[in-house]
Amino acid sequence: MRITAVTAVPFVLPYRRPFHMASGTVLEAAHVLIRIETDEGPMGVAEAVSRSMIYGESQASIVEAVRSWFAPALAGLDPFEVESAQKVLRSVVANDTTKGAIDIALHDLRGKAVGESTWRLLGAASTSLRVTHMLGTGSVADVVAEAAAARQDSGIDAFKVKVDTRMSSSLALLAALRRELGDDALLYIDANQSLSAEETVASLGRLAELGVHLVEEPVPSTDLVGKARIAAAGGVAIMADESATTLETAAVQLTTGSARALSIKPARTGYTTSSRILGLARGLHARAIIGSQGDSAIGTITSATFGAAFEWTAREPAELDYFLGLGDQIVTSAPVIRAGRVHVDPTVAGNGVEIDEDKLAHFRVDS
Ligand SMILES: [Mg+2]
Repeated sequence: MRITAVTAVPFVLPYRRPFHMASGTVLEAAHVLIRIETDEGPMGVAEAVSRSMIYGESQASIVEAVRSWFAPALAGLDPFEVESAQKVLRSVVANDTTKGAIDIALHDLRGKAVGESTWRLLGAASTSLRVTHMLGTGSVADVVAEAAAARQDSGIDAFKVKVDTRMSSSLALLAALRRELGDDALLYIDANQSLSAEETVASLGRLAELGVHLVEEPVPSTDLVGKARIAAAGGVAIMADESATTLETAAVQLTTGSARALSIKPARTGYTTSSRILGLARGLHARAIIGSQGDSAIGTITSATFGAAFEWTAREPAELDYFLGLGDQIVTSAPVIRAGRVHVDPTVAGNGVEIDEDKLAHFRVDS
């Protein structure tokens, strides 16, 4: 079997309402559908998510990177030659989510070629994952109401709270959430690099009292001295996200003690590198949480497939309900969250994503 074409189709999905965080506001999902075709029929699909503030990629740059670099280099390759494909991806720097999507599409293709679910091929640890709902920044009343609605509608009892530089009001919000949700709800925060080490250290005691069990990316990702100071203060474990976007940077964060947990995002590290990061975390007894990259239903299905396949991620909550904030999807069957869990379908061939061609025709922006 040989790869005959790699194509990139840009599409835009509307948001039900803007999502606010310390690193910016997102108004629409400008993503790219990656498809890898072969001479024997099976085709792999995945979604690339443009996040300029983290990876410097745009929808247009993803399309161009596929067209001018990755498609020509992958053409003619046997899709089962994993290391050859990795070598092609490594031949271009950066472009994280483009590469992640290509790797996930290759896994989809391999699963379809052998008639087996990727979930089973990777590890088949659990058929479902506990879902974390991500709460954007906003007024206390609005954020608490949103959390209560997620619990009411989907049975979700795990929440990641985006916080910003106003740490005292963030602590008040967390206290209100704890009152509303009770002691059993799982809470952690993500500052998206917006705090100083001093502010973080000063709030650790209160965060621990409120049962906040992780602080994600509190300070600028390059502030290793500040992170060491936070880790030394203790109380709540630090989770690396923007500072651990590659296998190598994840290794630095964990082995320097800067972080004791990692956000693993298949959208940026594909399945191949995500599984290597997962092994690193497991060997160092660090927690590994499946994070959201603002994925639509496509990325939600592929992240769930990965997270549920491995015991080390299946035991943790996963940030997989973000797609519910989008006004529509381009898959025939979107994930369903029941009793706070999302389920994978072990009977599919490949990753479990089926594109709705009519919806794609409606939302694509290249024609
Ligand atoms: Mg984050």
